[in-house]
Amino acid sequence: MRTTIGWMSTEGTTALRRVRIERRDLRDDDLAVRVDYCGVCHSDLHRIGGLLGEGALVPGHEFTGTVTAVGAAVTAFSVGDRVAVGTVVDSCGVCEMCRIGQENFCYEGPVTTYGGTDRVDGTRTQGGYSREYVVRDRFAYHLPDGLDQAAAAPLMCAGVTVWEPLRTAGIGPGSRVAVAGLGGLGHLGVKLAAELGAEVTVLSRTPGKAGDAHKLGAVDTLMIGDDQQTQRARGRFDLILDTIPAAHDLSPLLRMAALDGPSPCSATPWSRRSGSSTWSRAARS
Ligand SMILES: [Zn+2]
Ligand SMILES: [Zn+2]
Repeated sequence: MRTTIGWMSTEGTTALRRVRIERRDLRDDDLAVRVDYCGVCHSDLHRIGGLLGEGALVPGHEFTGTVTAVGAAVTAFSVGDRVAVGTVVDSCGVCEMCRIGQENFCYEGPVTTYGGTDRVDGTRTQGGYSREYVVRDRFAYHLPDGLDQAAAAPLMCAGVTVWEPLRTAGIGPGSRVAVAGLGGLGHLGVKLAAELGAEVTVLSRTPGKAGDAHKLGAVDTLMIGDDQQTQRARGRFDLILDTIPAAHDLSPLLRMAALDGPSPCSATPWSRRSGSSTWSRAARS
């Protein structure tokens, strides 16, 4: 076993403790990655809060770093390569979902970067709030030259969460996209949609977001709770990215979705009762 430093939550506290954790010895298709930057995701809080029942947990599932060692069969990576790792670190590799590149929906269940169960030895995975991570090569990604490591880390969860629906919906110049919520996901959703050429509107529950929304690339801000505003925007948006991280009424958003346009993508909410199946369905919608 290898050992490294991790930041661990126990008993649901967000006051993480610096502890020594074990990483597996490299398998033939493994990389050892020195973790340089790790994003802080709202899911970390869900899981620290015991959503899936875990006790001790090292969170962190969007990180960038540098390869420090490679297994005997690794050909796509070398020591010194800059890499990024996201929320999934293994899957069955043969089911229909894995074959089409949707390993996050693997029928046997993807191995999540933390709080997951390793497919080979059954150990609990511990995340990227640590100095080193050992990951199967298929689930590490080369970081393009020129891309800032710190800025790229949040793209591996928050970024892909909003990028996938934007691309699936074919968003580009002429598209009208609404982003509900301007937190971590919403922030990236606005920037990415604007860069794709869409006309972006931020849907907010609280006033005072217009300045930030504009700076990120939005052309307009609407108050979800204002019936007159939502009525005026009836059917306006080709895609609505719903990134509000709490239970809320979806009807104003649905009213603003265009006829036959892609369904709103609800990134949240999910609860202990609704569980991950709701999350999966939301991610697919
Ligand atoms: Zn995340
Ligand atoms: Zn699979």
